[in-house]
Amino acid sequence: MAGATGAVIVREDGRNVHWKKKCENCGYLDSSTNISTKPGPGSILTAGYFHCFKCKHQSEVRIYG
Ligand SMILES: [Zn+2]
Repeated sequence: MAGATGAVIVREDGRNVHWKKKCENCGYLDSSTNISTKPGPGSILTAGYFHCFKCKHQSEVRIYG
């Protein structure tokens, strides 16, 4: 199971990981789901930044393989 910061993984299928942006400060969860190719073991997928509109915190989105 992959881990993540700035995001939560909602589902994994064979090659893809489905994730939502999450604020690391207040826990706000974005409503839209993103789909990315799962990073390999030991790899990190960076997917930019999430700017929380509730608390204005900026979280870097990283998904760990
Ligand atoms: Zn926030």
